[in-house]
Amino acid sequence: MNVFEHAEIADRLRAAGIPITLQRLAIANALFERPVHVTAEQLLRQVKASVPETSRATVYNSLKLFVDKGLLKELVVDPGHVVFDSNTEPHFHLYDIVTGNLTDVPADQMSVIGVPALPPGIEMEQIDVIVRVRPQR
Ligand SMILES: [Zn+2]
Repeated sequence: MNVFEHAEIADRLRAAGIPITLQRLAIANALFERPVHVTAEQLLRQVKASVPETSRATVYNSLKLFVDKGLLKELVVDPGHVVFDSNTEPHFHLYDIVTGNLTDVPADQMSVIGVPALPPGIEMEQIDVIVRVRPQR
């Protein structure tokens, strides 16, 4: 990553109202350098390689903060398997249940027709679609 991209990512955090720390910047770099789907533990390992003093709590707290600020989407693939997605544009997912590979499906390739009637006082937050696939048998 060059200095320009580094500064761009710092600007993105500041614009979202997130104070910059060295560890947050390292976490943000790992997430926003290119679109990724990553688990908290994968991210922790990756960030520790460049900033070894990064704690698990810092990674989890930063992920929550980034999700709250709309920089990141949290995707529950299976119970106990949560992936963070740095592509916040509307899109769907293909999930290979054998390899665990998760790939984006552009929003223009699929559509969800209709939404369920919602109880009073409830509003739609988002619709997640995960198409589960496997290698042909
Ligand atoms: Zn995605």
